[in-house]
Amino acid sequence: MAELPVLTIDLGGTKIHTALISEDGRMIAEDYRLSMADEGPEAVIQRIFAGIEKLLDEESMSISMIHSIGIASASIIDIDKGLITFSPNLPGLNDIFLRDILHDKYGIDTYLINDSSAAALGEHRYGAGKGVRNLIYLAVSTGIGGGIIIEDKLYLGASGCAGELGHMTIKADGPLCQCGNTGCLEVLASGTAMAREAKERIRAGENTILVEMAKGVIEDITAETISMAARNGDSLAQEVISEAAVYLGVGLANIVNSFNPEMIIIGGGVSKIGDLLFNPAIQEMRRRAFKLPAQAVRILPAELGGNAEVIGAAIFAREQKSG
Ligand SMILES: [Zn+2]
Repeated sequence: MAELPVLTIDLGGTKIHTALISEDGRMIAEDYRLSMADEGPEAVIQRIFAGIEKLLDEESMSISMIHSIGIASASIIDIDKGLITFSPNLPGLNDIFLRDILHDKYGIDTYLINDSSAAALGEHRYGAGKGVRNLIYLAVSTGIGGGIIIEDKLYLGASGCAGELGHMTIKADGPLCQCGNTGCLEVLASGTAMAREAKERIRAGENTILVEMAKGVIEDITAETISMAARNGDSLAQEVISEAAVYLGVGLANIVNSFNPEMIIIGGGVSKIGDLLFNPAIQEMRRRAFKLPAQAVRILPAELGGNAEVIGAAIFAREQKSG
């Protein structure tokens, strides 16, 4: 008999993705709703409950038909305590015992993991990293997250928060990051960083089709707009992407020298920019990293898209429960 599905929640900076995942990593059903973290943690928690209940309702399932709950959150997580300590991209979501909150509500085994660590597990088991023993997953989106797989196992470190690769310092006197530090990879190479750079250059009087694409509302420019503009030959957009790509390449070189991975998988919305981002980043990595680990590494786009986190959280919950 097949095992019961895992109920998983990916709590991200912009949206809450709730899913039912089968034993073999298949998506059975899913729900999306906005996180709206600016409304405070209590409102976010209520929206998590609402997502779960809608999904169970639609599938005519009760909580007794669920194997366990896995939550992936864009946060610095104390794994033993099931505690969200700090969330750079979910303002106000700090010091929340989210694991126990869900466990108390539904009464089944519940596990909490960082979203990019979960995505690393998902890509390792069912995505671009199948059969690869040592890999690093990097999610480049609004922020930059990371996950580390060593010898086929997720590496979580002493407190459970290893893999915060987006917050390695790239430029000590660089811009201020959401984490409070300056010059992190995230603040130089994320989608937010690209949008900030483009807006600054537009305000400084540079010409670009971005203004027209955003119908004159400069604030609306996102990494996606920049990507489209770059493909249409806009030089400002192309420069913004290649500048971010160089910083990404610096981060990749640090990762390659630190971990000597077989593969680095790059996911997240910004990775959809494709070669325009990947090529200069890989070139910069090769220029900086030692030759031996640089030759060993393959840098590939993720395969599971926006499902890597919920699939990975389900893998994590199953593994934790079976001990
Ligand atoms: Zn940071």
